[in-house]
Amino acid sequence: MSDVMGLEIENDLAVYKTLLESTNAIPWKIDWDTQSFAYVGPQLEQLLGWETESWRSVQDWANRMHPEDRTWAVDFCVAQSIAGVDHEADYRALTKTGEYVWIRDVVHVVRKPDGTVDSLIGFMFDISERKQTEHKLLALQKELEDMSFKDGLTGIANRRRFDTVLDHEWADARRSREPLSLIMLDIDFFKQYNDHYGHLQGDACLRQIGALLSGAATRPRDFYARFGGEEFAMVLPETDEASAHAVAARCRELIARAGIVHEASPQGMRLTVSIGVATAVPGRNDGHLAFLDLADRRLYEAKQRGRDQIV
Ligand code: GH3
Ligand code: MG
Ligand code: MG
Repeated sequence: MSDVMGLEIENDLAVYKTLLESTNAIPWKIDWDTQSFAYVGPQLEQLLGWETESWRSVQDWANRMHPEDRTWAVDFCVAQSIAGVDHEADYRALTKTGEYVWIRDVVHVVRKPDGTVDSLIGFMFDISERKQTEHKLLALQKELEDMSFKDGLTGIANRRRFDTVLDHEWADARRSREPLSLIMLDIDFFKQYNDHYGHLQGDACLRQIGALLSGAATRPRDFYARFGGEEFAMVLPETDEASAHAVAARCRELIARAGIVHEASPQGMRLTVSIGVATAVPGRNDGHLAFLDLADRRLYEAKQRGRDQIV
């Protein structure tokens, strides 16, 4: 009778072993007292290239981990194990050929009757594909985010980004009591430019103006964007009226120096711009819309006064 039972148990064990060693992950067991592997599945060799005989101590495991992951992964697993908490850790494991494979180690803590740790058992799953997808997704997400703040034609910041920045800098200026300046710039007779040279060259011209603005915004927090159509805007934090005027003059000068030919302009042969500048130290109850409106009205005034100038 006991022989039969023994045989059955042996059969069961064989079934379990077969099951365990035919899964796609690496099963393992660590004996806590000796900090050594009591067992590691033969999948180790298929997945990472290491022979099971070379995988003896906990140190063997830690050594074959990406240096950037090692400290936190080992510390985390040890802390969780001592606390008797089942856990998972993602890290890059070194293969015998010197590459890294993303592993998710899922760990179960086995305790003795007195509550102390007896052993750890777990599975190492190959999650490289999942990680790759994750990285691709993150990169895509970042690209999408960048795209949503970028003007498609000129590659500089778009209106959405401008609104965010102005809102932020306005609040900041209200706190710091520092002057905030705003520049609105509009190309003169751009409709005629398009009519004369065609829409594609009009597009190229807008790109050129967008690029020129980077030369006018020199401080790290200076911000410029395409406001819409052939209008551009700049937000200049901690900038008083005189400095803002100087930046506006630099914009005008850079564009003049670029010497963009505009044969159809009713006012000479070169492309020019009109600029409205506003400076404010926002009070507690002031909103930034009135500020934007003020700069816009000054731009309109520059047009009224004959264009190619700063108000
Ligand atoms: P003003 O001197 O008063 O500013 O006259 P304007 O002709 O520059 O102004 P208006 O608002 O009459 O015309 C703006 C022109 O800008 C018309 C529009 O087709 C052109 N425009 C707006 N967006 C784009 C664009 O993305 N590409 C091109 N090529 N043209 C554009
Ligand atoms: Mg316009
Ligand atoms: Mg215009």
